[in-house]
Order: sequence, then structure tokens, then C-alpha cells
Amino acid sequence: MIDKIPFNKPYFAGKEVQNIVNAAYYGHLSGNGAFTKMCHYFFEERWGFKKTYMTTSCTDAFEMAALLMDLKEGDEVIMPSFTFVSTTSPFMLRGANIVFADSLADHPNMDMNKVEALITDKTKVLLVMHYGGVAVDMDKAVALAKKYDLILMEDMAHAIDSYYKGKPLGTFGDFAAFSFHETKNVSSGEGGLLAVNNEKYIDKADIIWDKGTNRAAFERGEVDQYEWVGLGASYMPSELISGMLYAQLENMDDIQQKRIKIWERYYENLKVLEEKGFAKVPHIPDFSTNNGHMFYLLLDDKMQRDALIKFMDSKHIMTVFHYLPLHNSPYYKSKHDGRPLPNAERFADTLIRLPFFYELPLMIVDMISDKVKEFFN
Ligand SMILES: *Cc1c(COP(=O)(O)O)cnc(C)c1O
Repeated sequence: MIDKIPFNKPYFAGKEVQNIVNAAYYGHLSGNGAFTKMCHYFFEERWGFKKTYMTTSCTDAFEMAALLMDLKEGDEVIMPSFTFVSTTSPFMLRGANIVFADSLADHPNMDMNKVEALITDKTKVLLVMHYGGVAVDMDKAVALAKKYDLILMEDMAHAIDSYYKGKPLGTFGDFAAFSFHETKNVSSGEGGLLAVNNEKYIDKADIIWDKGTNRAAFERGEVDQYEWVGLGASYMPSELISGMLYAQLENMDDIQQKRIKIWERYYENLKVLEEKGFAKVPHIPDFSTNNGHMFYLLLDDKMQRDALIKFMDSKHIMTVFHYLPLHNSPYYKSKHDGRPLPNAERFADTLIRLPFFYELPLMIVDMISDKVKEFFN
């Protein structure tokens, strides 16, 4: 029995268990079997990523990318402060320093006009995150990466099946990291994927992904035995994970359609709040698509936002805030260079996310919207 409308409910396509059973019957449960390869094929064919690697999480996809980049102590990585912590540790573990950038005034995405001033001769990586599936200004990101010879990486955790000027997000960067955590559009509970678009990293990626061996070359018949040829790790998930994910990928169009409908219903219901000056609704710039990842409102201040969360809770509806800015976090505070990042701080204080999941009926979206309006009346 559900006594509360949850914020999230993991999507279940129905074929997940069948895929897992099939993997067991087939007798290949470790990684890189048929389902892993089908997931790779899906991503490479549908969106045009050059080479993809299933991983056990998005965080692990970042770790794998950070290894591939061959970062040195003191290299700098520019990324938004308003994002999930997964993006930081993989680079810091390699000895890099993080330089946090502020958000736009009207959207949590990184303000690309403020990035150039942060670039030094130590900057090696520019990392962008497409918040809520809304594209960062990729013309600017690509131009900066080119001008200063930076590695460009995209955090795709929110942005699967979203596009910038018609081109799939995740295909702009040298690398892109996806998450299949249960809160994302498609999920395997925990899981991720690294897309490598720059060919020069692919041979090394094959080796790192497979524990430092050249098994990929062996499977292609290029060498007659596989052996230890480099440093590696074990980011490859089992067939159980890939089988679960594949069942969802097969329903990708249905999932996206349904989620976009939910988003649009919230938007139609709640845009009146912006017209009346009570709260702001999200706006999708012309250059971006909407992939129905989440719906949020922006309130005036933290007190009002927290009061709305409490009010919704009293109506048995779970709502949540989002990211506490990383530059202010307990671990990082003393390491930050002290630059104020006012927009990131404001979004942390004023953003509220409403229940959002595949199974959420539009009738309940209407009911939730009514409760939100009731709060402002
Ligand atoms: C969910 C999320 C991640 C982390 O994904 P995991 O698969 O849990 O490692 C990274 N970045 C962003 C923006 C996320 O929302």
C-alpha cells in the first residue's frame, strides 16, 4: 500500500526478468556477453557514439574517463558547482584540481560565458552537465575546448535522448558519461555507460575496461592470446545488469513520450504561477530539446521553498530539493578558491522537484499541481 505519492518510482518494462533468466540459461552471466553488446549497439546506432562501454555506474564511467585522460597532479578540471558529487572524485583521485563554475542566472546549467576567465595553462578538461536534460550551449563549449586544446566531457546523467540543435547530446565531447541509477529515465538499479567519441582513446579504453588485458583485440582475432598489456580496472557490469537495462532501452520511445507528456502537463498547469509572479517554471531554450527528465519550480527564497516541501508533505506528496553546491560542501569548502558562485547557491536554496516517474498518471499530476497552487493561494 502506498500512503504517499513518492518522488520517484523506478520504471519497469516487464521484460527485465525474462532477459536475466535468458542470460542464465544461455550460461553467460559475467560481463560483455550478448546483452552488454546489445546495449552498446543500441547507443552507438541510435545516437552515433563512436564506442561505448557499459559500466557499473556513471561515477565509474567518470573514473574510466579520468584514467584515459592521463591526468597529472595539478591539472585543472572546470565543471559546474551545481551538479552531483560523482563528477568530482574521479578527477581528484587522479590528482587533478577542480575549478567550479557558476550556473546561468535563469537555469542551473553552467554559464558558458563565464568559463573562459577560469581557463589557465593548467586547465586540461572542460566538463559540462546538461541539467534536467536541457543542453548546455554546446557551440560555446566546443569552441572553448578547441581554442584552448581542452578535453571536453559531457555528464549525460540527466540528458539521455536529448539534443542540441538537432545533434544528440553526448556526441559533442571526447567523452560522455551516462547513469542508469534508478532515478534516471532508463535504469538498471545502478549502472552507467561511458561513450568515447575521440578515436585516439579507444584502444586504451578497451584495455582499461577489461582489467588491463587485450581481450578485445583477442576477440577480434588480432592477437592469438590475451595478456596483461596495461593498467586496468573492472568497470564492466554483469549480464544481469545489461539484460535489465536492455529491456528498458527497447521501450525507449514509449518512456520518453510518456515522460515528456508528464512534463508538459506540469508546465501547462503551473505556468500560471510564473504569470502571477509566485514561482518560476523551467524554460527550454530554442537550441535544446526536452527529454522529460524532471520538473522543477524556482521559488523566491529558501524559507519559502522549504515551506512548500513541508506543505506538500502534509498533503502526502513527496517533493525534494536538489544539489547543494559542491564548492560549499563539507569536504571541499576549505579547498575552494573563495569565488562566490551566487547562481549555483540560489538554485540550491530555491529549487524544488515535483514527483516525476513513468507511471505517474496525468490525473495525479493535476492533483499535485492543484496542491502546489493551493500553497500560493
Ligand atoms: C545521478 C547522477 C550521477 C551519478 O550517477 P551514478 O550512476 O549514481 O554514479 C552523476 N551526475 C549527475 C548529474 C547525476 O544526476
